[in-house]
Amino acid sequence: MKIYPNLILEALRNVRYPGSGKDIVEEGMVEDNIRIDGNKVSFSLIFDRPNSPFIKSVVKAAETAILTYVGSEVEIQGNISVKMKEPVRTEPPKLLPDVKNIIAVSSGKGGVGKSTVAANLAVSLAQQGYKVGLLDADIYGPSMPKMFHMEDARPVAETVGDRELIIPEERYGVKLLSIGFFVDKDSAVVWRGSMASNAIRQLIADAQWGELDYFIIDFPPGTSDIHLTLIQSLGITGAIVVSTPQEVALADARKGISLFTGDKVNVPILGLVENMSWFTPAELPSNRYYLFGKEGVKRLAEQMDVPLLGQIPIVQSICEGGDAGEPVALNPESVTGLAFRSLAESVVKQVDWRNKHLPPTQKVEVTKQ
Ligand code: ADP
Repeated sequence: MKIYPNLILEALRNVRYPGSGKDIVEEGMVEDNIRIDGNKVSFSLIFDRPNSPFIKSVVKAAETAILTYVGSEVEIQGNISVKMKEPVRTEPPKLLPDVKNIIAVSSGKGGVGKSTVAANLAVSLAQQGYKVGLLDADIYGPSMPKMFHMEDARPVAETVGDRELIIPEERYGVKLLSIGFFVDKDSAVVWRGSMASNAIRQLIADAQWGELDYFIIDFPPGTSDIHLTLIQSLGITGAIVVSTPQEVALADARKGISLFTGDKVNVPILGLVENMSWFTPAELPSNRYYLFGKEGVKRLAEQMDVPLLGQIPIVQSICEGGDAGEPVALNPESVTGLAFRSLAESVVKQVDWRNKHLPPTQKVEVTKQ
């Protein structure tokens, strides 16, 4: 029997992609490169990401469908190769040519621990030897001056070449600028959209950040136009969305995610962070009390097919560390330090993967079972 590409495609129409319920041909997962040599067939399947839980089962189902609908004499040459979809990336970061990765830390609403996560992530990455910058762009309540015990810092500007650049402060190995350094904390500042984005843009483009491995930006919560303006112009490597596990917070987290993945901007979601996952008394670290429900963010990550980067317990020391200006990540052996270290490691892994695989599509061979 002669085998045609169309026969293979027809057979593959019987395989449903569990992520959407559509068949894999309709879903655009079969690459237009079906090669046939006698009874030998080879082709590629395209997935969204390398750790998609569906890769093995879809590859297996595709093989079975071909053997069932085309004929058992078909030989699937080697393995069906698996490729990753090439996401559209925003323009590369021109504003900061010496910065390797820009990471946005965001949340759907305030009070979920976004700034705490951003601060501890930055410290943890610095502790692991990376060059780290942190910009507190939370115009509604800049908290980094307090979290880094730098309430009185007033960064200076220096002439570098023909430009006047703001020199970031430095603490715990992290270069730091906060919108809070430039406003009097007792006088309420009402930032209007464009004023706020201009101020933030200045702290990014007109500051001497130098070479950085990771530049972390603590965004204001929600989905304001400050986000859009900044995100569009920055070339962000990826976004991290922080949420607590209760239902009301999850609805906002969804909105937070869609901001980055919407039509206007297309920033990859590096993953979600579940903060306040459970309460653990410091003296009984293995006791877990799920005050806000169990694993809500973990489930959201599964539903939205994005990685869960970490789960951070509620521990009194996190709050105390924040208030005292000593982020808990400074003590990497503590329960909380470990949680942030593991979060930082997951972030590095996700970023490395993206840098390796984007923009060229990358082949990952999946062993036939
Ligand atoms: P956001 O930036 O989302 O508004 P913050 O990071 O300012 O939230 O956190 C709000 C408050 O909750 C702060 O007082 C902070 O110290 C505290 N907090 C955040 N995460 C934790 C945690 N995992 N355990 C204990 N306290 C926390």
